[in-house]
Amino acid sequence: MRYARRLVAGTLAAGALALSLTGCGESVDPIERLGRKATQEPSQTPSASASATAPAPDSAGAQGGASDEAYKKWGLTAPVQYAPKPAQKPQIPKAAPGKVPVIDRIPLPAEEKIVFLTFDDGAEKDPEFLKMAADLKLPISMFLTDSVASSDYGHFEKLRDNGSASTVNNHTLTHPNLRTLSFEAQKKEICGQQDKLEKRFGQRPPLFRPPFGNYNDDTLRAASECGVSSVLLWRVSMQINNFQYAQGSALQPGDIILAHFRGPSELKGATEIQMTTRMLQRIQEQGYRIGRLEDYL
Ligand SMILES: [Zn+2]
Repeated sequence: MRYARRLVAGTLAAGALALSLTGCGESVDPIERLGRKATQEPSQTPSASASATAPAPDSAGAQGGASDEAYKKWGLTAPVQYAPKPAQKPQIPKAAPGKVPVIDRIPLPAEEKIVFLTFDDGAEKDPEFLKMAADLKLPISMFLTDSVASSDYGHFEKLRDNGSASTVNNHTLTHPNLRTLSFEAQKKEICGQQDKLEKRFGQRPPLFRPPFGNYNDDTLRAASECGVSSVLLWRVSMQINNFQYAQGSALQPGDIILAHFRGPSELKGATEIQMTTRMLQRIQEQGYRIGRLEDYL
């Protein structure tokens, strides 16, 4: 099953199509699904039962602010390795005038085995996850949709303010497929969430992610007019146990990893913590460190 899914992803590896397959909302009606989820309370406790086969990772990286023993508490066999802020930012391709650039991977040299964590939507608000993220000092770039996250923006504020330098970014007001909307309607979705997040979090987010990774030229113009500086996509999507790759079968330097604030009802009974533990194990198994996305933009 797992193999078959990867095979499918590999077969359909052509950019946007693969993105739409791996994006946030691979089932029927994302808004309904997310809305339902937003009203449910998570309850399961974390488990360290996931396979513990990770070898000791490359120890060259600088440590984040995590305490030395925190990793054991969250089901890991070795500390998570963090990449320091780069001395020089990578060259990101420039956008055409009046549009914002689209970034789906940070261009890094092959020896820089660094990946970046992004979490989308905001339906799940598991207090245990806040402890995990704070303990490990995971730098997370959040992309929040107002219709599901706003029932408790305080949850995401805590995540932002836990000492990891995590950030809050824009993922529209209602999670529509922007390609189906007019320029004006897209602008309403993007600017509307910029305004809400600025009012609630005190800063106008620099990053925007279109739901399902679906966008067109109007999206890039609208995002620019709303004060966004980059559209952030991804090449790797965390499922319940494993990554799904848009290209190839392993992480690549600079990969932006998409995960979701999801709980047991959407993870076949697994908790957000179990999903995150497995994601970190997969990163460690492949010898990667975690960087803070904004340090590279
Ligand atoms: Zn989404």
